[in-house]
Amino acid sequence: MTNALLQAHDVHLSFGTTPALRGAGIAVHEGEILAVMGPSGSGKSTLLHCLAGILVPDRGEILFDGRRVDRLGETARSSLRRDTFGFVFQFGQLVPELSAEENVALPLLLAGVRRTKALTEARAWLDRLGLGDLGRRTSGELSGGQAQRVALVRGLVARPRVLFADEPTGALDSLTGEQVMDLMVTVARDEGTTIVLVTHEPRVAAYADREVVVRDGKVLALTAEPVG
Ligand code: ADP
Ligand code: MG
Repeated sequence: MTNALLQAHDVHLSFGTTPALRGAGIAVHEGEILAVMGPSGSGKSTLLHCLAGILVPDRGEILFDGRRVDRLGETARSSLRRDTFGFVFQFGQLVPELSAEENVALPLLLAGVRRTKALTEARAWLDRLGLGDLGRRTSGELSGGQAQRVALVRGLVARPRVLFADEPTGALDSLTGEQVMDLMVTVARDEGTTIVLVTHEPRVAAYADREVVVRDGKVLALTAEPVG
């Protein structure tokens, strides 16, 4: 528990009078793919947002690599998100005005990489993952599954320590969802990326090394944590 890469301890968070997290605890180990399951409204996304430094809990601790994320100010949390974390959400959220490769290059540009270098790197990632043909298209010219794969590559291009994926297959049919998950798992294994994967689909959770379930704002462990 203590040497986990990412941890939440006794985290509470309410939206107004609606409690979303009520003493949630979780440990995410380096290099693992952890599925966070649970019914709609149970607090999965809120927990992910706390772990990723997007939301600050009312009470409790968030630790990344031994640092108290919940004690950081907005600027430091924003740097942590940009430099260390990657994100992919239910609806790819590609910038519609930009081509697929420009979308993939965005995290690199935000990190200060020059435009030509960022685009070269974005193209190399798309090629390596068999998506090279899509690079020049805009999101309107991509199918839902293609757009989500591009969004996934965008989440990975800056080589994040942790990829946060919130219902990444939620808008896709099951075959397309499997293609997205195959890609995600392949890259995670190659790069050693740790993944926090929120899903309510057991078929998607089956790609993970371990599952936890969120219920009423608390985390129930399902499969044993790895030793060490
Ligand atoms: P899940 O991702 O498991 O569906 P959420 O974490 O999104 O659950 O939501 C947990 C609870 O918090 C729900 O009751 C939800 O309605 C509430 N909630 C989530 N986000 C907000 C928000 N921005 N404003 C108000 N209530 C919210
Ligand atoms: Mg959610």
